[in-house]
Amino acid sequence: MSPLTDLTLLEAQTALRNGEISSRELTRACLERIAALEPSLHAFLHLANEQAASRADEADQEFVALRKSQSTNSQFINLLFTKPLLGIPLAVKDVLAVENLPCTAGSKILEGFFPPFTATAVKRLQDAGAIVIGKTNTDEFAMGSSTENSTYGVTHNPWDTSRVPGGSSGGSAAAVAARLVPAALGTDTGGSVRQPAAFCGVTGLKPTYGRVSRYGLVAYGSSLDCVGALGRTVEDVALLFLIMAGRDALDATTQDVALPDIKFDAGADRDLPLRGLRIGVPQEYFVRGIQAEVEASVRAAIDVLESLGAEVRDVSLPHSEYALPVYYILAPAEASANLARYDGIRYGPRIQAESMWDIFYRTRGRKFGAEVERRIMLGTYALSAGYYDAYYGQAQKVRTLIKRDFEQVFEQVDVIAAPVAPTTAFPIGAHGDDPLAMYLEDVFTLPANLAGVPGLAFPVGFDGKGLPVGMQLMGGHFREDLLFRVAHAYQQVADWHFRKPGI
Ligand code: GLN
Repeated sequence: MSPLTDLTLLEAQTALRNGEISSRELTRACLERIAALEPSLHAFLHLANEQAASRADEADQEFVALRKSQSTNSQFINLLFTKPLLGIPLAVKDVLAVENLPCTAGSKILEGFFPPFTATAVKRLQDAGAIVIGKTNTDEFAMGSSTENSTYGVTHNPWDTSRVPGGSSGGSAAAVAARLVPAALGTDTGGSVRQPAAFCGVTGLKPTYGRVSRYGLVAYGSSLDCVGALGRTVEDVALLFLIMAGRDALDATTQDVALPDIKFDAGADRDLPLRGLRIGVPQEYFVRGIQAEVEASVRAAIDVLESLGAEVRDVSLPHSEYALPVYYILAPAEASANLARYDGIRYGPRIQAESMWDIFYRTRGRKFGAEVERRIMLGTYALSAGYYDAYYGQAQKVRTLIKRDFEQVFEQVDVIAAPVAPTTAFPIGAHGDDPLAMYLEDVFTLPANLAGVPGLAFPVGFDGKGLPVGMQLMGGHFREDLLFRVAHAYQQVADWHFRKPGI
């Protein structure tokens, strides 16, 4: 029998429900694999071994109690609806608050901080029975594309440990790819779920802005931040999404939009499950500089979608080239405001000094990393009197143009297909101290955040070095269902998502 850690989320759910495995066995298997591989991966910042073990025992008791009672059928069916994740271990990116666990956001300035509450997205998964097994590594305050900006050291890509896993949700992506957990939570402000999913060969969703509550998320760029999920299959990610999504009174930007009716059953159209669906391929995403193998794999995947019945059309998102400069004005501007709260008084460590101002200066000066300082300076500059109109105001206007590009394209097609990143995973240290080279990694993922539309990344091949290649689908606001439908149809005929790194 293959190891328990090879089970997908849905497979684990079935095996637990049928009594073939216990939550204790599954959780132990994950913890043992973590213990064996963490020295080479460093995917986690904190592990909750004991809490996870006792949650697992509680879940097993719940299963036993249900099996004993006589009205089993209806109670089991009820369980299916109320606790679909009972006994399943998950990992959570360390920017989401989980009560009784540290929350550092990859920063020294939050060292030792224990949030007194749990983020809504996590809480909903816990209420559904999931067990948080640990918190995963991230670039400091989710600023980066490689985890190299984490104060606590880089995570290694399970496909080649000399390379980055992508970022900033690189710890979560590496943990899922290396089968340390069946699924994990990440966050995506400019690509931080999709790009690491692509680099690690897993499936990752950035939902529509406002679809999943940000309550309990360490804020980075509040008009861009989204909580998303990473798993091995589209179905696993969709299940987590359905549980997390929906209006939350604690986050005023969440919207009361009905959850999509996700149909994974192709029905009568077995051979052509995508018949009637229009897929747009934006010319602006296949530009010079893109790695040839990435383009080839993505184009081959689009051909597969066509063979499944979809109609493929060329489309244009003419303002795409402005996404990068617009994002790198708006995100730092919002970050500079959000990060003002870390002052040595309210959270984490304090460097004592004579005056309150000196406490602020010293604590912030010593505890923020270089990239975070750079962004605070960029953002403060862009918002300062005299430059506000020229930078921030202008960027907001161009953001509207980018959003309109998407609206126009979604009048012609249902879904957009594009690469996730211009390259596969790069070597640790490759971008050295060249922040611009790092920013370029996000060129294909930023537009979805600026427009607020959902994006789903999933593996569509490997390059000559054996590194995974990802493709992303983007859809109109609140049309995650279309992304799931298309990517699921693809995963029914492809097996890239089942390949396992040799680590
Ligand atoms: N790499 C981008 C940045 O550094 C996006 C990060 C993210 O999505 N959190 O801002």
